[in-house]
Amino acid sequence: MSTARLTINLHALARNWRALDAKSAAETGAVVKADAYGLGAGPVSDALVEAGVRKFFVAVAEEGAAVREAVGSGPMIAVFSGHMEGDTDLLRQHSLVPLINSAEQLLRHFEALPDHPFGIQLDSGMNRLGMEPADWAELRDKALSRKPVLITSHLACADEPDHAMNAKQLSVFKAMTDGVKVPRSLAATGGILLGREYHFDLCRPGIGLYGGMPFDEARPVVKVDLPVIQIRDVAVGETVGYGNTWTARRPSRIATVAAGYADGLHRAIGGGIDAFASGQPCPVVGRISMDLITVDVTDLTKTPTSLRILNGHQTVDDLAEAAGTIGYEILTSLGSRYSRGYVE
Ligand SMILES: *Cc1c(COP(=O)(O)O)cnc(C)c1O
Repeated sequence: MSTARLTINLHALARNWRALDAKSAAETGAVVKADAYGLGAGPVSDALVEAGVRKFFVAVAEEGAAVREAVGSGPMIAVFSGHMEGDTDLLRQHSLVPLINSAEQLLRHFEALPDHPFGIQLDSGMNRLGMEPADWAELRDKALSRKPVLITSHLACADEPDHAMNAKQLSVFKAMTDGVKVPRSLAATGGILLGREYHFDLCRPGIGLYGGMPFDEARPVVKVDLPVIQIRDVAVGETVGYGNTWTARRPSRIATVAAGYADGLHRAIGGGIDAFASGQPCPVVGRISMDLITVDVTDLTKTPTSLRILNGHQTVDDLAEAAGTIGYEILTSLGSRYSRGYVE
């Protein structure tokens, strides 16, 4: 092994989907935007189809084309950014369902693809995407007369179950859609965990499938192994890495591994995490560089050829906490330099 390796457990992914599906009475889809949160839209979507997913969500039409190739012609693939200028050919060729966000998009869709399925995305308070209540009041008769296949909205604070915003958005979404005879979807991972009244007809988890919080029963899906390039002995008082931030207090052995912040192992992670040799933790010491990380392997009895930095004990959320970010950002930053392997 000469490059860092990402191992994605598709079996754990499928189990996470089934576990989330079991928590809701509604249908459960899957969000595979951003290359399935960095884990590979093709293999991930393929495994989810096998598990029973029939509705997929992506951020932009280009991503939908890649997912269509993996899942075949049956499943629905919906696009959060809706029908943007220049999207028409992609939407038609790959049978993608745009979730229409505005009057402008609605007009564009009806003119460019009059018989092509579409959904509606409503803004229930997040102020990011979707039609606001006033737009919707104006457009709803026109939109509903063309039979949308889905109405969605998104929660801003679902990872905080006690946040007042959840109930507020629920009531806005209901006020905008009660009585409408179109399937509705409000909940992502966090919304599934809020309980049944948030589930409506379709839930659409992302992060929980990939082993991230707020789904704390998730099985870890990703392992990251880093090859050791070199090992050296460091005497008491010597320092390691940029800025001399770590000083040896005992005669130490330092392993240098081949990955760094250019591989999504953010510089801000600093110390406080481990790299593992057959399950035994070894502290990461000194600053994380662009392509290199230094690890104190003094306590190992055997010289390691690689060290594991993500495993079932140290998760994407642990790295996120050390870096002051969220698991979503760690996952989607794991870059293109890794070789990827899939456990089926
Ligand atoms: C990303 C996203 C999701 C999935 O959210 P998770 O928190 O990853 O489950 C669902 N809906 C929309 C609109 C999104 O942007």
